[in-house]
Amino acid sequence: MKNKSNALPKALVWFRRDLRLKDNVCLKEASDAGLQIIPVFVWNPTEGGKWAFGEASRWWLNESLRSLIQDIEQLGGELILKVGPAELILPQLATDMGVDEVFFSKAYDPAGRRTQDKLESCLQERGMSFQSFNNTLLNEPPTVLNGSGKPFQVFTPYWKKAKSVIPSQNPSNQKSLLNFAKGGNNKLNLDQTSILPNHDWYKKFAGKWDISESAANKLVERIPEDIVPEYGSRRNIPSIVGTSRLSPYLAWGLISPRQVLAEIETRGESKATGIDTQYVAEIGWREFSHQLLYHFPRMTDDPLREKYRQFPWRKDQEDLRKWQRGQTGYPLVDAGMRQLWETGWMHNRVRMIVASFLVKHLLIPWQEGAKWFWQTLVDADLASNSQGWQWSAGCGADAAPYFRIFNPFGQGEKFDSAGDYARKWVPEIGDLPNQWIHRPWDAPIHELASAKVRLGKDYPMPMVEHKVARKRALAALAQVKET
Ligand SMILES: Cc1cc2nc3c(=O)[nH]c(=O)nc-3n(C[C@H](O)[C@H](O)[C@H](O)COP(=O)(O)OP(=O)(O)OC[C@H]3O[C@@H](n4cnc5c(N)ncnc54)[C@H](O)[C@@H]3O)c2cc1C
Repeated sequence: MKNKSNALPKALVWFRRDLRLKDNVCLKEASDAGLQIIPVFVWNPTEGGKWAFGEASRWWLNESLRSLIQDIEQLGGELILKVGPAELILPQLATDMGVDEVFFSKAYDPAGRRTQDKLESCLQERGMSFQSFNNTLLNEPPTVLNGSGKPFQVFTPYWKKAKSVIPSQNPSNQKSLLNFAKGGNNKLNLDQTSILPNHDWYKKFAGKWDISESAANKLVERIPEDIVPEYGSRRNIPSIVGTSRLSPYLAWGLISPRQVLAEIETRGESKATGIDTQYVAEIGWREFSHQLLYHFPRMTDDPLREKYRQFPWRKDQEDLRKWQRGQTGYPLVDAGMRQLWETGWMHNRVRMIVASFLVKHLLIPWQEGAKWFWQTLVDADLASNSQGWQWSAGCGADAAPYFRIFNPFGQGEKFDSAGDYARKWVPEIGDLPNQWIHRPWDAPIHELASAKVRLGKDYPMPMVEHKVARKRALAALAQVKET
């Protein structure tokens, strides 16, 4: 539907998980084509089915949109908010507004791909032009394949190849040149979209996160000097800020991985090795996860190593609940689960430990853990979450072998030796000396008494003994081998 009036030609730009104005390829392309931009966000609460956005992500999304609305208003535009299936709403909106072309970012997850396929058909049926771009990853998944043209399933060769084919485009930071149109009368207020979940546990997150594109930009500016140089030695210590905490900003596209890479390649002492730093390799794990999900969409629910379908998992709601609430009796596990519940985020080392505990010490299916993380993480990302859980359960691509079972108190003594992390999140045992903070059950009675800890009352006894759990997990694994 071409614009027949003398007004400037218009583009509908559909925001998805790219909620930013800088380095947004859709905005740049529309702007370079001389089009006036009508920005729109469509909330479809059921997209994704059982993996429809979780509660913590919805809170993050709501706050990101609040900030995006203001940023667009400052440039004279209005973000149109709609609720429903994007493939039905966008073609109608484009028709109603006399739009010349529709621009959007490509999704690589199963539900996002289905939506864009349907949208493209609907636009084609109406004879409307559209363009879609990679706006969320360094490389599009189909562009990084092994010598046989197949997807990589091992990280190291994947990343070696991926690094060599990243398109060399500089991020575009010229948001002031964007020409936004007003949205007209047919838009909703943010409060009318019901993006926020009914259950208001997210309220406690307020004040713990600064959610805006400009906050993401400031965070990224500090990464080359504050995080990258000591990343190798500090990234595993959960009590300090040794990692960037950029994940929720990347998950909703308030910043692009390309901007992060460009910042590291041009600033601070890390710039010489930019792409080869350990920090950027972690962005590589994000890319690796996304390409796995693209090629193996069943990995959200189904183990990539098929023999693990036979694993003799236990269904135990009570044990699952203790794990979810941080009441396992292992301080490091409980600290992680409580950090997640209170802040919507958990340190990566601790994610690995709590995940291992669920699938190995408790023998509860990894899918249960993935579901809980999906609801509670502000950085919930279907690719990284599915990959992280399959890795922890030993059934994924390039996974930790199942027989390698983390010792939950040994990990505490190694990575939280002074007990700062455990004390912060499990304050009821906070007065125990360092020696006992990660295994209070071994503490002499007088130490427990002077720290005012009554095990089983103030803090639980371990819900399963480590040696017993280890033996049970290995026996379960042996059954898988036999089938
Ligand atoms: C069981 C499990 C579930 C996970 N679920 C998610 C999830 O839903 N969303 C998510 O973004 N990450 C997930 N991760 C990966 C990782 O824990 C987080 O990305 C990281 O803790 C985020 O903190 P950060 O931004 O400070 O990371 P940094 O150490 O500063 O790393 C920089 C960025 O690299 C990426 N990254 C780092 N580690 C990984 C990794 N192992 N896999 C994929 N990307 C990585 C993230 O985008 C991160 O923001 C999961 C890991 C595990 C073990």
